[in-house]
Amino acid sequence: MNPHRDPRHIEDMVRKYGTPLYIYDTKVLQSQAVSLQDALGGAALYYSLKANPNKHVVETLRKAGCRVEVASKGELERALEAGYSPTDIIFIGPGKTVEELRRASEVGIQYFVVDSEDELQLLSEQTTVREILLRVNPDFEASGGKLTMSGGKPKQFGVERAQVGNFVGRARKLGLDVVGLHYYLGTRFLEASDLVQNTKSILEDAREIQRETDLELRMLDMGGGFGIPYFGVESDLDLNLLKTGIIDCIKQARAWFPKAELAFESGRYLTAECGRLVLQVLTTKTSYGTRFCVCDGGTNLNMAAIGVGGIGKRNFPSWCVRFDGDSTAKLEAGDQPVTVTGPLCTPDDVLLKDVQWSMVPKRGDLVVLDNVGAYGPSASPHSFLGHDYPTEVVV
Ligand SMILES: *Cc1c(COP(=O)(O)O)cnc(C)c1O
Repeated sequence: MNPHRDPRHIEDMVRKYGTPLYIYDTKVLQSQAVSLQDALGGAALYYSLKANPNKHVVETLRKAGCRVEVASKGELERALEAGYSPTDIIFIGPGKTVEELRRASEVGIQYFVVDSEDELQLLSEQTTVREILLRVNPDFEASGGKLTMSGGKPKQFGVERAQVGNFVGRARKLGLDVVGLHYYLGTRFLEASDLVQNTKSILEDAREIQRETDLELRMLDMGGGFGIPYFGVESDLDLNLLKTGIIDCIKQARAWFPKAELAFESGRYLTAECGRLVLQVLTTKTSYGTRFCVCDGGTNLNMAAIGVGGIGKRNFPSWCVRFDGDSTAKLEAGDQPVTVTGPLCTPDDVLLKDVQWSMVPKRGDLVVLDNVGAYGPSASPHSFLGHDYPTEVVV
């Protein structure tokens, strides 16, 4: 759901808050959370807080029924501030400090997802935790996806598949019980059939592990990677198709793992479409035939624009608002190519290349990027060149 483009709203917000400005829409967050949970056939959905740590965003997703997945002490504190009960929090990540392990253990989070033997040792020495989840680095290929993590390749994440049995034994010796498994195969899957296929592969792998190690799963986190369309050629994930396939998977999982809580995770799907970035044009110029429009924010606020996170160097959906005091015009698609950059002193700071609007923006106009609610400022080098964290407003 791409929120309605209303130039007057953008103008009002900029008058109140200035630019650069991130605007997050809670209605979109709620509707994404409701529709994704509906498609997951009763499995729990954990919000991956790294996608957007804004407190009100986190709070909105909590109220919409999501649990939460954190990967640092900062994220843990943020989840708690946003009202999460510790028992709805899992802690993931390939490297956790002693301080993080202790703090999360003291507040009583639901589970740690363990990635290494060092971590087993630390948990057993430094905390009172006795039950953990193990992250599996599986040896099968994920199908689809723009940034995949699987395929039996070397990774800092998880325990390689062939070592899982030993790892469970090692944990037992240290007084720790592996009570569940965690998988995450990658991100930006847009085909429901790929997500269903990957979930099936995960179920089969988990069943094998259950057999090999004779553990009885109490939790199975099947990851996610639910994509949203960023570019013209991409289309929405078909949630009806996803639901049909996932319901079958859930039935299978309940038969194979009768005691297990079933879960998925999502960051991007829940937050990307709720967010807009509004920038103001500082200057325009023509250089060797290319029209440039330099704004007061750039890749320092939206690093994904240069291809981070499995996103190719392509233009995010964008539009432009004439901002000249009393009239507001929305400049939509047209035939005047312009390249939009930020203010950074590096040629990489290009947000939109040869975007075509109906008019060439001028100084003072507003450039709006849509679908940037996930992996925005917190995932960007916002302080590069001494710039500030942008204002964030939740409406
Ligand atoms: C980042 C991450 C996610 C979230 O991925 P999205 O593509 O934003 O949904 C989920 N699980 C793990 C383990 C992650 O590292």
